[in-house]
Amino acid sequence: MNVGTRPLKNLSEVIVIGGGLAGLAAARHMARLGRLVTLFEGSGLYGGLTATLGHVDGLPFPGTFAGQDLAIPLLEDARKVGVRVIEWSVDKVENGDRLTVTDGAGDVHRPEAVIVASGASLRQLGVPGEEQLLGRGVSRCATCDGGFYKGKDVAVIGAGDGAVHEALTLVPLARTVYLVARSPLSAKREYADRIAGKDNVRFVWESEVTAILGDQSVTGLALRDVNTGAESRIEVSGVFPFIGVEPVSGFLPEALRTPTGHVAAGADTATADPRIFAAGAVRAGYGGTVIEAMAEGVRAAESVARLLAGKF
Ligand SMILES: Cc1cc2nc3c(=O)[nH]c(=O)nc-3n(C[C@H](O)[C@H](O)[C@H](O)COP(=O)(O)OP(=O)(O)OC[C@H]3O[C@@H](n4cnc5c(N)ncnc54)[C@H](O)[C@@H]3O)c2cc1C
Repeated sequence: MNVGTRPLKNLSEVIVIGGGLAGLAAARHMARLGRLVTLFEGSGLYGGLTATLGHVDGLPFPGTFAGQDLAIPLLEDARKVGVRVIEWSVDKVENGDRLTVTDGAGDVHRPEAVIVASGASLRQLGVPGEEQLLGRGVSRCATCDGGFYKGKDVAVIGAGDGAVHEALTLVPLARTVYLVARSPLSAKREYADRIAGKDNVRFVWESEVTAILGDQSVTGLALRDVNTGAESRIEVSGVFPFIGVEPVSGFLPEALRTPTGHVAAGADTATADPRIFAAGAVRAGYGGTVIEAMAEGVRAAESVARLLAGKF
């Protein structure tokens, strides 16, 4: 008997970590294959990085969909087919003789297999003012907060797909959208063409943000030219940093992670541990679209089904 520790929980054969589109697709598919599945979602916001997108681009079927239009039906159907959903983060996965998964409540679970679909989080600028002014002019969601900036000047930081996606959301609302980045535009062609034609967009390339200015709310940005070191300021009331994402995998054994923090797994989602699979944005080599995330989730579930078929 374990004295002073919580009991082991073995109510599921498979644990899926993360309720983004990769995890939801994996858990639903796994349950449809007849397995006992528990899905953990740490933020309580299903859909992960897409949860706050007002418009998801690049879907291979017609129509306009917000991230929630994709996530909520998947979540509801996953529940319907028997997925147990727990709103806790997973704190630790250990892969000794038995797999153990410790959740944020301190409960320990012993599944036969784990699908890691913990995705990525938005990278921070790490400059003064960013944390202090979050929610007071600093925002990580143009769809949620864009309405506060009608007729005002805002800055989106970044030059990739995410930054331009969010800038395009702000263009119809804001008076001016500054797009500020250290490097030239690196977004895909379609986004580059769309943003180039907008009259109220000002490009500020080869400049890095050194501080977000303001006391009670954002009043501007301090910038430094990356070539000359010259300092300048622009006045804005909203700042939207989108400088890329970082994988979320700190709860996994070091041996399964790459130096960048991704899970080392091929396109078949298999890791070096035959009981652990990885799907979506947390996986090294992931292609970057929600369709790929969902496809990888399904692929991981199929792999787990084959593994368990050999056992039970
Ligand atoms: C600004 C922006 C715009 C984008 N626009 C598009 C677009 O238009 N079209 C497109 O195809 N793609 C787009 N993408 C990319 C897309 O959002 C991602 O590729 C996709 O969300 C990856 O899905 P995922 O499920 O792998 O990870 P995520 O979406 O990151 O979901 C991971 C989930 O796991 C949870 N989690 C993390 N750690 C734990 C833990 N320890 N325990 C429990 N839960 C945990 C998180 O809370 C999260 O809900 C965009 C991305 C950004 C940043």
